[in-house]
Amino acid sequence: MENPSPTGWIEVITGVMFSGKSEELIRRVRRAVLARKRVQVFKSHLDARYGGIQVVSTHDGGRVQAEPVQASVEVMERVRPETEVVAVDEVQFLDPGIVDVANVLADRGMRVILAGTDMDFRGQPFGPIPQLLAVAERIDKLTAICVVCGSPATRNQRLVNGVPAPAEGPTIQVGGLETYEARCRECHEVPSAARAQIRLLE
Ligand code: ADP
Ligand code: ZN
Repeated sequence: MENPSPTGWIEVITGVMFSGKSEELIRRVRRAVLARKRVQVFKSHLDARYGGIQVVSTHDGGRVQAEPVQASVEVMERVRPETEVVAVDEVQFLDPGIVDVANVLADRGMRVILAGTDMDFRGQPFGPIPQLLAVAERIDKLTAICVVCGSPATRNQRLVNGVPAPAEGPTIQVGGLETYEARCRECHEVPSAARAQIRLLE
């Protein structure tokens, strides 16, 4: 890609789960490495017990090593002065401080690549993503394929025991038993808790 700025800048890769955000992040990281840039990759992780090196992996098996972080301040602390490209995956789980961190790093001349899903399972904007989209120089919003009808998918469908999960559930369920599907607006379902209960009994 052409440099959108002669100094540093922010790129956001967003969209529904399974849309290829991690694939695209890995692709950009690999190309930056080929260009002999000094690259650091981070991945937000919600589980405090998780330590050491982690990988950014895609739904079809691609992977690259990443440092796990739980808070935006950790990105700030771990970025080395000589780093030229900073990539962060699963950025929707980070605190709002990531907006300032991304701006500070871009102001220092770094290329900042952030990937994260833009909506929660209810279809509401997710975490710091709206603010990041506002300050980014470049945004790519990717779509997946709706598993119900085959149209372009934009929504994250949460399923619990195989049926659409109620709107009242928590936005983030650490270690939950829920699964996710990519769906289009038409096929996306967010029932009320009472309605979801009836679906389970059907
Ligand atoms: P994301 O980071 O956006 O969750 P990944 O990069 O991890 O996405 O995975 C993208 C890959 O997932 C696709 O290249 C494809 O092989 C696979 N995939 C599985 N389900 C779907 C789907 N419903 N629509 C599109 N791709 C899918
Ligand atoms: Zn659909």
